[in-house]
Formats: sequence, structure tokens, C-alpha cells
Amino acid sequence: MVDGNQLYDLLIIGAGPAGLTAAIYAGRSRLNTLVFESASNLSQAMLTDDIENYPGFPEGITGMELVEKFKTQAKNFSAKIMSKEVKKIEQADLEGKKVWAVYTDDGQVFKSLSVIIATGAKPKQLGVDGENLLRGKGVSYCATCDAAFFKNKKVVVVGGGDTAIEEALFLTRFASEVVVVHRRNKLRATKILQERALENKKISFLWESNLVSIEGKQKVEGVICENVNTKQKSSCKCDGVFIFVGYEPNTSFLKALLNADDSGYLIVNKKLETSSKGIFACGDCCQKHLKQVITACAEGALAYHYSFSYINEVKGIVYK
Ligand code: NAP
Repeated sequence: MVDGNQLYDLLIIGAGPAGLTAAIYAGRSRLNTLVFESASNLSQAMLTDDIENYPGFPEGITGMELVEKFKTQAKNFSAKIMSKEVKKIEQADLEGKKVWAVYTDDGQVFKSLSVIIATGAKPKQLGVDGENLLRGKGVSYCATCDAAFFKNKKVVVVGGGDTAIEEALFLTRFASEVVVVHRRNKLRATKILQERALENKKISFLWESNLVSIEGKQKVEGVICENVNTKQKSSCKCDGVFIFVGYEPNTSFLKALLNADDSGYLIVNKKLETSSKGIFACGDCCQKHLKQVITACAEGALAYHYSFSYINEVKGIVYK
């Protein structure tokens, strides 16, 4: 089913900081804009308990609150947001005009002059025994979502980056003990997070170790870790395992259409153009160095800017 024969100016795929910023700008330019929000791939910002490095919120703000504010702002400028999963994008013809057709999981097709991909990324799996079996039974990828289930319990956190350490700190509000398992002898996380974690009496570290399996039948009962140097294995009883070993981009549905690197991150130029004309990309689904809410927002604004120029060019209304 086609969404009437309506032709949108701009379809934005993803309702995280990047997509919603593009929507705010597009709304102010009075572009006929529709944003697709995925129920299964929530923006990582939304799952962040406390964002304390986004300017303007000196007391910090929860990711949920911040993204809700972005959403309200986008709606105030009349951007429409629909909860739908996008399955495919392909070039189409509309009355002789080349447009982009976006297919959603409920069989609808939406047509547009330009598309901005802002689908973000999702947590990577560790790929060890017991991980899939015990997912939701003690294995989690989101402390903000699940920490409260581990009140006065012992949990293991895997990873040494910003996410792992931030989430380990959050877990200490509930858990009695948090063991961080990291494969190196130092952390990758930002210094301020390292300091907080190292000072926190509830947090201990198992350095230079890999978690190699998660034990338990109905629920997590413990983990087996292996020292990276000696290969010696040790077991640790625990009630939960939180895995934060990086992210992978939500771009698999674009494989046939857009150039991406080996990990699936979309490759864009300085104008945030992808390999297909009229399709732009921004935020965590793109190859980049700094994955932050603020960089996602900045890229969302830029993606809008270049998409707007493209749309005006196609319409033949460039303001010179
Ligand atoms: P990350 O920076 O890529 O860190 C992933 C961590 O997991 C690293 O310590 C890595 O070890 C470890 N790891 C990866 N694969 C592993 C495996 N197979 N087994 C064991 N350990 C493994 O990912 P992130 O922490 O999720 O952060 C992603 C991005 O978001 C970063 O740019 C980060 O700065 C940003 N972020 C920022 C904030 C903030 O500013 N407050 C909060 C969250 C995230 P190695 O260190 O050995 O590589």
C-alpha cells in the first residue's frame, strides 16, 4: 500500500538525537517531513541513565528526557513521527520524477525526494556460551533498563569503555557488588569515569581477562573468565551479566544500496552524502571517531542542510 500518492520532501529514518535534530531543522524550513521511529532499535541515548556532557544541562539529564525534548521540539515544528520499522529503500519513479521509495514492515511504501538515515547502532554481543540462552534471564545489554532487578545482588560487567564504566557505576545504585571484567590492564573509558569507578567501593576489577562462558540453566548463576596471559580459567558466582563491548550499526537493510565499511558503518562524505544521490546519513550508523549525543545532533543539522539544498535543486527553487 502506498501512502496515498503523497510525495514527501524528506523521510528521516531514526528518531534518536541525529534524526530528531534533522527533523527540527526540516520542520523550521517547512519541508514536508516524516520521521520513522523503530520500536525494536531504541536510540542508545534513550537508554542512557545520565547524560552529563550535553551542554545546557549542568545538573545532567536522563537520555529519555533529553530525547523526549528533541521529539517535542521536532513536533512543535510540525514534523510527523511514525512508529514503523523500515525494511528496504529503493529508487522509484513518480510521474517521471526519480524519487526514493521507503518500504516499512507493515507493507506500506512512502515516497520522498530525499532520505536521511539516522538509524544509530545497537550493542554488540560477546558471542560466548550461555549468552543467548540466558538473555533476559540475567544477561543484559542495558543497565538503565534492568539494573533494578539486581537489588542487593552481585553482577559482572564486561568491557572497559565509557559505556561499561558508566553502566557499572549506575549498577552500584542497586547491586551489592559489581565486578568489571576487562581484557586489558587499564580502561579505555574517559578519565572522570575511571576515577569514579576506581574510587567506588562496590566496584572491583578482574583485569586482563576475557569472559568465556556464562553459566546457569534457568537464570545466570555465574561466569567463567580466562586470563589473557596465563590462559588460566576462574569462575565467579553472580546473578547478572551486563555486556558493553561496543556497538554495531543498524544498517543491514541498506547493504545492497549504500557503501559501508566492513563493520557496516555507512561511508559518507563531508556533505554527509552516501553513495546514493539524495540519501544522506548521520549519527552513530556512520563511520566516525566520536560517538556522542552532541556529534549526532551536529551531524543531524548538517545532514538536513545538505538534504535541503538537494531538495531545492530537484524542485528547481535554489535561492541564489
Ligand atoms: P568502546 O569505546 O568501543 O569500548 C568497548 C569496550 O569493550 C573496550 O574496552 C573493548 O576493549 C571492549 N571489548 C570489545 N570487544 C570485546 C570482546 N570481544 N571481549 C571483551 N572486551 C571487548 O564502546 P563503548 O564503551 O560502548 O562506547 C562507544 C562510543 O560511545 C565511544 O565513542 C564512547 O566514547 C561513546 N560513549 C560516550 C559516553 C560519554 O561520553 N559519557 C558514554 C557512553 C559511550 P579494548 O579497550 O581492549 O578495546
